Amino acid sequence: MSEETIFSRILRGEIDCDEIYSDEMCLAFRDIQPQAPVHILVIPRKAIPSLREAEIQDESLLGHLLLVSAKIAKLEGLNHWRTVINSGSEAGQTVFHLHIHVIGGRKLNWPPG
Ligand code: IMP
Repeated sequence: MSEETIFSRILRGEIDCDEIYSDEMCLAFRDIQPQAPVHILVIPRKAIPSLREAEIQDESLLGHLLLVSAKIAKLEGLNHWRTVINSGSEAGQTVFHLHIHVIGGRKLNWPPG
């Protein structure tokens, strides 16, 4: 059982978001605190807390999320971008509903902090 998060409330329409894309498996919207000119979150409708809890039956869902993230990056006009999944608080995860960050529109440094 995963805990209630702000993303569950966004999925239920209880909190507004700047929606970019929606389908039966996922929703994508702009990050409220963008770290780059383009910063979009792609989240599954299924409430998986993090990649750590993802299971083999989530395989096609995870593939779908990655393909949607690439489709969105291209729709945003990006030729170069970064897809990030933070797993666990020390890796920077603050919302425990699995999500993919799509970040681009500026030069991105490596390694990340
Ligand atoms: P994490 O730190 O990898 O868990 O990413 C969570 C992201 O969710 C952060 O970049 C936040 O800025 C973003 N965020 C939190 N609340 C909202 C919201 O209500 N709308 C859009 N983005 C949000």
